Amino acid sequence: MKAAVVRKNSDGYVDIVEKELRPIKANEALVDVEYCGVCHTDLHVAHGDFGEKPGRVLGHEGIGIVKEIGKDVKSLKIGDRVSIAWFFEGCGHCEYCNTGRETFCREVKNAGYTADGGMAEQAIVVADYAVKVPEGLDPAEASSITCAGVTTYKAIKVSKIRPGQWIAIYGAGGLGNLAIQYAKNVFNAKVIAVDINDEKLALAKEIGADLTINSLNEDAAKVIQEKCGGAHAAVVTAVAKAAFNSAVDCLRATGVVVAVGLPVETMDLSIPRTVLDGIEVVGSLVGTREDLREAFQFGAEGKVKPIVQTRSLNEVNDIIDEMLAGKIEGRMVIDMKK
Ligand code: NAD
Ligand code: ZN
Ligand code: ZN
Repeated sequence: MKAAVVRKNSDGYVDIVEKELRPIKANEALVDVEYCGVCHTDLHVAHGDFGEKPGRVLGHEGIGIVKEIGKDVKSLKIGDRVSIAWFFEGCGHCEYCNTGRETFCREVKNAGYTADGGMAEQAIVVADYAVKVPEGLDPAEASSITCAGVTTYKAIKVSKIRPGQWIAIYGAGGLGNLAIQYAKNVFNAKVIAVDINDEKLALAKEIGADLTINSLNEDAAKVIQEKCGGAHAAVVTAVAKAAFNSAVDCLRATGVVVAVGLPVETMDLSIPRTVLDGIEVVGSLVGTREDLREAFQFGAEGKVKPIVQTRSLNEVNDIIDEMLAGKIEGRMVIDMKK
């Protein structure tokens, strides 16, 4: 089968190779991949930002149909449509796995990083960790929810935003446009979109942002303080330190910054600001299987509609360049049949 694998020199690109899959184990399922979105995290992995992973099959926004199941599998049957997500497997018995924080399991495996992922014609999943896609959700759109959707849905949960409050979304890219939709249509918040790209901000406005700010032209934190009295929360998906710093400054007292983007940098955090204004800064990592099930369901109900364009597996490196240049609206999704 054909697969997109991380290059030996971790130069940020993939090679398309022929690969033989091993037989599945008793608790696993073999999936014929239909679609796999390209997430900015794939660029970090291909570039070795979190350690080098040469030869790893990339991809954690995978959707496919179960072709074969191992002898112990009870949770899936042949023909089910399932996810191949970043949260690929937890140990199932640690303090994190047992308390609804399974994505932080210390023995976690992640698709497209520490396990082979979904940018391939076929993938092997641990059956109990593959989440079923509900009826009525388009599979290409479901691929986007498998990471971008669930990650932002969870981050907004973590922000503790309440209906009618202001939430700032920094970065209106693949994650950000879904963050705007979940914040607006599921959490009923008032949404500020901040980006450095006017086209992304125009799209943000179209999908429901109440206020858009280009932080290249304006001091976003200042505008948010003036126009909204400060945001109650900020979710930062931008891959830039400047956005994290602005997010802290845009908050009203007791506001929450949820860190989602993964620039390999440190942020500046004023200690007096944090203490005197009771600011919270918290990281949020994808979502649990239950979060994904909920995030899919909101997609199936039409409350969020991922913006996707399909491409072929041979185009992954072009998509990487387009993402780095900020040219993608919504998500580019590999269609394995193209
Ligand atoms: P993307 O490239 O589609 O979007 C990034 C957006 O940030 C772009 O629209 C870009 O214009 C904007 N941006 C860049 N600099 C900015 C700035 N200074 N201020 C405001 N906006 C700015 O990427 P994506 O797929 O949405 O992923 C975003 C980040 O989130 C990546 O670092 C990715 O690894 C990370 N991520 C984290 C999780 C998690 O679980 N925490 C999950 C998925 C992705
Ligand atoms: Zn991702
Ligand atoms: Zn665990």
